[in-house]
Amino acid sequence: DTRKKYGPLIGSIDEGTSSTRFLVFASKTAEVLTFHQVPVPHIIPKEGWFEQDPNVILNAVIETVDVTCDNLKKLNINHEDIVAVGITNQRETTILWDPTTGKPLYNALVWMDIRTSSTVDEILQNGKRPQNFLQNQCGLPVSTYFSALKIKWMMDNVEGVKKAIEEGRCLFGNVDTWLVWNLTGGVKGGLHITDVTNASRTMLMNIETLKWDPQLCKVFDIPMEILPEIRSSSEIYGYIQKVTKLTGVPISGILGDQQAALVGQMCFKMGQAKSTYGTGCFILYNTGAYTVRSTHGLLTTVGYQFGAGTKPIYALEGSVAIAGISIKWLRDNLQIINDPKDCSELAAKAEESGEVCFVPAFSGLYAPYWRKDARSVICGLTEETKPEHLVKAALEAVCFQVRDVLEAMALDCDFPLTKLLVDGGMTANDYLMQMQADYCGIPVVRPTMAETTSLGAAIAAGSAKGVEVWHVEKIEPVPSDTFVPSINENVRDMKYSRWKMAIKRSLGWAVE
Ligand code: ADP
Repeated sequence: DTRKKYGPLIGSIDEGTSSTRFLVFASKTAEVLTFHQVPVPHIIPKEGWFEQDPNVILNAVIETVDVTCDNLKKLNINHEDIVAVGITNQRETTILWDPTTGKPLYNALVWMDIRTSSTVDEILQNGKRPQNFLQNQCGLPVSTYFSALKIKWMMDNVEGVKKAIEEGRCLFGNVDTWLVWNLTGGVKGGLHITDVTNASRTMLMNIETLKWDPQLCKVFDIPMEILPEIRSSSEIYGYIQKVTKLTGVPISGILGDQQAALVGQMCFKMGQAKSTYGTGCFILYNTGAYTVRSTHGLLTTVGYQFGAGTKPIYALEGSVAIAGISIKWLRDNLQIINDPKDCSELAAKAEESGEVCFVPAFSGLYAPYWRKDARSVICGLTEETKPEHLVKAALEAVCFQVRDVLEAMALDCDFPLTKLLVDGGMTANDYLMQMQADYCGIPVVRPTMAETTSLGAAIAAGSAKGVEVWHVEKIEPVPSDTFVPSINENVRDMKYSRWKMAIKRSLGWAVE
């Protein structure tokens, strides 16, 4: 019988920037039994603005759960075997809603939205304050990226938000909070909570105490009443009510997507790191119990906290805003590829990309530069340049941005990485993975089980006190493929120095 074969099942809601999925893991084997995925459209009202409809996100989640439960039935597996659900979500994305009606006060401002550029200037008093003036408290530079800026923008620009706050009718949440509130009852008493990893991306949580910091809230004029309660990443928070088939199942794990990948890659030891290649690219390096303050443009963030009151594990993070989405841009805007899948074949045709270098700075540049005024550049075009050269340059840009981050990590942490664990949609591309190994000079290790982010959330949910079908220390890493560097150091350095020249031009292009 299936219960014996698979053990209790864990559901994982994986709510990403471009789609949302629900996966079911067998606790005995950690394999994915079935899943369903629904795309979530982007709303782009203006250049640099990037929104999603919170109700579309919620309905997509519910749809994925329903269809996945139907899939289980077809496999002769009872959905009642799902004993816990974990959530992993796009981080920083900001939602304000009215808890009396359950209605959002505005669309979700997605993490890569840069309308908050003027809010950043205001907080930095037009350059009088250094970008890192809050780094001691929250581990982050002031950037368009983080939730506090997005909340402030909505308070200052969206009609009705200030009034709703005054009347006690406004709650803030990242997508995890929005989902939990709705799934656990919504207007009828939904839980208003988040986990430490999501909270560590708002700029409002003190990175040492793991509590909302009144001073930080004051800098942004954000009233603390609208903030959710901060909980650990793994504990029973409450029970699902909204989705019939999962009614009564506990939600017992929440991790921001990049932290979930860190857990799913089993980077439980200090000095281990992973890189996730999706819409953007995010490298997290486990620094154990230490909150390392970067002097090279990295973020200090919470990696995970397994259980209320337990010691958190911290990470240094290099966030790259534009990775896979530049491949979509080649498809949708330049129309030189039909499908992201085609890009390796095309790039391979480009022999040497020669001089062509592409810096995709659509959201400015994040780590390690943190320059919202950076602009995209393509340089080195010649009469011979063909679409494939651009495609190759776009893939190279991903690899060089990761190298930028790894260089910063080596400077902040003294000991360089010996290998890089990778995951995310783009890692299906072998050509890109080989290029990454070549350009970084260390082996790139890709687990054969690609769903590391979802697995991370499932591990958090399945190992929570009261669920305990998984024990973190006993989980075996999954088998993997390794890509070994195959170019010599001179070539590697020559290519990288060309990238650095292109970066200089991107930083110098500012029109502000
Ligand atoms: P997210 O979790 O951010 O929504 P995914 O991990 O699903 O993203 O990855 C999707 C991204 O990967 C897309 O931006 C797409 O352009 C890119 N991508 C998918 N397949 C390939 C491929 N074979 N080569 C290069 N890029 C790819």
